[in-house]
Formats: sequence, structure tokens, C-alpha cells
Amino acid sequence: MYPDQFEYFRPKTLAEAAALLKKHKGARVLAGGHSLLPAMKLRLASPKALIDIGRIKGLSGIQARGTHLWIGATTVHADVAASPAVRKSCPVLAEAAGEIGDLQVRNRGTIGGSVAHADPAADYPTVLVALDATIVAKGPKGERKIPAGKFFLDLFTTALKPGEIVTSVLIPTGGKGVGGVYVKHGHPASAYAVVGVAAILEVKNGNCVRASLAVGGATPNPVRASKAEASLAGKRVDDAAIESAAREVGAAIRDPLSDGYASGEFRVHLATVMAKRALQTAAERARG
Ligand code: FAD
Repeated sequence: MYPDQFEYFRPKTLAEAAALLKKHKGARVLAGGHSLLPAMKLRLASPKALIDIGRIKGLSGIQARGTHLWIGATTVHADVAASPAVRKSCPVLAEAAGEIGDLQVRNRGTIGGSVAHADPAADYPTVLVALDATIVAKGPKGERKIPAGKFFLDLFTTALKPGEIVTSVLIPTGGKGVGGVYVKHGHPASAYAVVGVAAILEVKNGNCVRASLAVGGATPNPVRASKAEASLAGKRVDDAAIESAAREVGAAIRDPLSDGYASGEFRVHLATVMAKRALQTAAERARG
């Protein structure tokens, strides 16, 4: 199908983009277009104007900045996957980026677009929630820094306010003794996560100092499995502790999503099995 008619603008600065968004009621930001354009073709979205932020300088790139990584909103998935800085200080994110869709999707889709779209089956949101990342947005009232855990509110719904544009994502970098992994059961056609689990463990002298476990794909927005995290805190990270933590994962998944491909019950089962595998791998990586 063809999209409805729309106007197209390609601003050179963020200020220009913000002014266009304000001027054109019903306008939408266009980044990689890999979620918005299919929705427009299906007439699930019919914006009156598209504000293409793809050529705005300073919105793309990856930089190590002290205790975190700065990733510009229009950075494409392929660049995150290949970045030496991401692979060194946050390998779990590079790993997740490399599993998104296919080569074409990874070469066009952006991290800012993925978080703003908030697809329940997307990969970044789950990983960013597990990493305690921060989403930076700029709008009519200035800049806001929103913790990932408070950003993804519901199905395709975020904490972004009207007129706000995601400008970057800040990722805390792991130190010695930190290991992370993203495990996904992807849909065979699109690779979207039927269930995705991100686990980050910090292990010192064999004991768990910090455990972070997030599940995506099973619910409208990614959830932290806090009971599972709490069950590991301070414990020796061994098979028994991991097994018992994984059993707590189901408690975090209320009203699981269900569709023709996977029932809610199956998604909860997958999350439990995948959490165990993720924690095992994260523990191995944390031990070095
Ligand atoms: P766009 O499509 O341009 O925009 C998406 C939405 O976000 C729009 O509402 C737009 O207005 C808004 N937006 C974009 N950028 C900003 C910004 N900076 N600030 C505010 N709002 C903004 N994703 C996965 O995670 N895993 C997969 O396995 C996967 N498989 C895919 C397979 C296919 C065949 C396709 C087509 C897509 C797949 N995707 C998958 C989605 C892909 O990752 C998209 O790139 C991503 O969801 C959206 O990024 P985009 O840059 O293309 O955003």
C-alpha cells in the first residue's frame, strides 16, 4: 500500500527540527524509517509531515565519556554493533545491536528511533533497562534525562512529551567483574524478540555484588525481574543460586502478551528458561 500524502522536511539543526515540529501539527520525526514507513504504508500512521533528523550534525556517533558511553540518537544499529568502544565497555549492547533484524535494518534503523518507537518486541529497550541507561531528550522546555526504567511506559508508549526529540542515550560502562549478555528467541521471519532477556552481573570473590535482569517481548514494556535480582544479591553465584533466581522470573511477568506465534504461557516459560541461560553466561563473563 501507499502512504497518505505528507510534507517532507530535512532540517539542518535540532532547533530547526523543533520549530518544524511545533509549526506542523501532526508531524512526526523521521529517523531510519524502518518502523515509521511500514506503519505509514499500512496506514497505521498518517502523519501530515515528516521531519527527517537524519542529516542533523551532532546527533550521530559514539563516544566514551568518563563513566559512560554517549550514543547519538541517529546512530544506526550496525555502527553500535561494530563500535570498538561499545564492544570493549558494554559488549552486551553491541551483541544486542548485532541481532536486530537483518543487515538492511541494521544499516538504516537508529537507536533513537528504536527507543522512541517502543515496540514491545524490540531489542534495545530490554538491554537499556537492564543497563540502567539514560535517554536524553530535548523539547520546548529544554533537555531531560530520563532513566530507561521510567521511559518505556506501555505498548508503543514512552515518557516523551509532545515536541521532544531523543538526542542521545547514555550507557554506564561496566568495570572489572561485570559480565552481561542478551539472549533472544527471535521471530523466524523478522527477528523481533518473541522474548529477550538481558542479564548483567557484577561478581566479586565469587559473590554477587549486583544483579540486573530485564525481560522484553513478553509484556507491553520491558520489565525488571526484581525478585530474581534480589534472590542473587550477596549470594555465591553458583548453579543453585542461578536456578532459584530464574524460577522467580515469572513473577515479574503479569498479563503476558499472547499472539498466533506464542501464547502468554509459552512466553513466561521461555523467559524462565532464557533467564537461567543468560545468568549462567553473565556469571561466566563476570568471572572473566
Ligand atoms: P523510524 O522508523 O524513523 O521512527 C520510529 C518512530 O520513532 C516514529 O514514531 C518516529 O517519529 C520516532 N522517532 C524516531 N527517531 C526519533 C527521535 N530521535 N526522537 C523522537 N522520536 C523519534 N527492531 C528490533 O529491535 N529487533 C528486530 O529484530 C527488528 N527486526 C526488524 C525487521 C524488519 C524487517 C524491520 C523493518 C524492522 C525491524 N526492527 C527490529 C525495527 C528497527 O530496529 C527500527 O529501525 C527501529 O524500530 C526504529 O528505528 P528507526 O530509526 O527506523 O525509526
